Amino acid sequence: MQWSPIGKPASARRSANLTDYERARREFDWDRAATALSGLPGGGLNIAHEAVDRHAAGPRADHTALRWVDHSERVVELSYAELARRTSRFAALLRDLGLRKGDRVFTLLGRVPELYVAVLGALKAGCVVCPLFSAFGPEPIRQRLRLGEAAALVTSPGLYRGKVSGIRDEVPSLRHVLVTGADAGPSGDVLALEPALAAAGEDTGVAATSPDDPALLHFTSGTTGTPKGALHVHGAVLAHHVTAEYALDLRADDVFWCTADPGWVTGMSYGIIAPLTHGATLVSDEAEFDARRWYRVLAQQRVNVWYTAPTALRMLMRYGPELARSFDLSALRFVASVGEPLNPEVVLWGQEQFGLPVHDNWWQTETGAIMISNFAAVEVRPGSMGLPLPGIEACVLARDRDGKVLRVDGRVREVSDPATPGELALRAGWPSMFRAYWGEQRRYADCFADGWYLTGDIARRDADGYYWFLGRADDVIKSAGHLVGPFEVESTLLEHPSVAEAGVIGKPDDVAGELVKAFVTLRPGVTASEPLRRELLAFGRRRLGAVAPREIEFDQHLPHTRSGKVMRRLLRARELGLAEGDLSTLEAAR
Ligand code: AMP
Repeated sequence: MQWSPIGKPASARRSANLTDYERARREFDWDRAATALSGLPGGGLNIAHEAVDRHAAGPRADHTALRWVDHSERVVELSYAELARRTSRFAALLRDLGLRKGDRVFTLLGRVPELYVAVLGALKAGCVVCPLFSAFGPEPIRQRLRLGEAAALVTSPGLYRGKVSGIRDEVPSLRHVLVTGADAGPSGDVLALEPALAAAGEDTGVAATSPDDPALLHFTSGTTGTPKGALHVHGAVLAHHVTAEYALDLRADDVFWCTADPGWVTGMSYGIIAPLTHGATLVSDEAEFDARRWYRVLAQQRVNVWYTAPTALRMLMRYGPELARSFDLSALRFVASVGEPLNPEVVLWGQEQFGLPVHDNWWQTETGAIMISNFAAVEVRPGSMGLPLPGIEACVLARDRDGKVLRVDGRVREVSDPATPGELALRAGWPSMFRAYWGEQRRYADCFADGWYLTGDIARRDADGYYWFLGRADDVIKSAGHLVGPFEVESTLLEHPSVAEAGVIGKPDDVAGELVKAFVTLRPGVTASEPLRRELLAFGRRRLGAVAPREIEFDQHLPHTRSGKVMRRLLRARELGLAEGDLSTLEAAR
């Protein structure tokens, strides 16, 4: 089906931050753009200073930085001045505890004010922040704390009891656990945050970090092996700032709501950092998705710019137009979405519901900031991810017969025509490009070829330069916008005494994009049964939390490659009823 492009009225084109895309691309220069930042008073750059302190020291000191909506819809506001004070105190506490520049401070918290204070305070102290999604189960938490060699963890008493206390002994690097509230409980192995903050020493200012100093560690999943810790530096803040201005059309007086959880990269780059660097008001909702509540937040908080995800929009669509129409959404000026393919129906639905199309954009944990986007003043092509940001060079690289990027004498080559798919690649060197996979040099080096960063996504570029997402080059799963590594799920299932082998795939789902589905081979002597299936589902949920399989199927004959790996691709093809393709690598005798 052909979808007509959505043109923009002249008024939208005139008033957007980016009015002339072609010119902005031609003239853009990262060094010139950097003048929008202030830098540390004594030289250097620190994300938290750009996000908080420089506003707190100026005319925006009393402007609301964080507007937090709690579970019961009570609203708590923190001004820039107050956020500066609290984050400095948090930094002082970390210094009192002996944490030093570069030490990893992990957070495991719901969307509560303490999370924002901990993240920005740890950045002020020069520590590296690693946020964990609070819906993870103990296993992903244990693995990430270990891989990132956590020195400190900030969490809540409930999350500590339920998910951390049982694994704490397995993380020898973890020197301090800080729990929110006033009560450390009887065990004595954690520190209560409130009294500790009250007793913290002098504010000694923001650590003298440079643009190349590590700031953020985000774990992301690959097809094989352990999760990868993508490391970002303080200099990334320039890309956060510029991309929010161009791709999200964000302005200082906006009320901005990014629905992503800060446990994931979107919730960090755009749910905390970017709106604050602009001096805007950032809305944070403690609760999970609920259609009525979300419309209420949009309406009551007078949200101007809304950054959300396709799964959430598809869920809203299911509630029908009447519900949307019963709220006053007239404050909305710009709607954007990220994280998974955005189907054209949703773009058009936005146009009907809000009088605004949904602007899809594309990026990933490794890129740190939006790379490809539909812009406020530029025609939207429903189903397309849009055009590269000013300052970003993208291309589609040709692949060889094995699906790897084609290299001839070390050189790569772009696909020759707009119809041909290839691997989406970005010219290396933008400010928020990840600088390492924590402790894994080889894995990092493998992501680059001939000066290009290889994204692992398959795309095509049309004759006008718009990019279209076609799929992943690997087996990772995107469920409700969250990247799930099949290997992590398989390894956990293997720890169940009944399981001999597991193969995990993404099964297409109308709302969540994909669901995690596991095929399980049972150990000899174990009989498949409905109670066992339910037990395995519960086992997965207990260990893995939000990334656990939603479906389990028993299969005593999982297909293997000659080297003995479970062929997830074939499982997926069978699940979809597709042709099984080239089976030459399938094991000879089954
Ligand atoms: P993450 O690193 O968890 O943010 O996931 C990044 C991956 O999500 C990308 O490599 C894509 O596979 C997918 N993704 C992100 N944005 C989009 C989009 N706009 N359309 C399609 N897929 C997307």
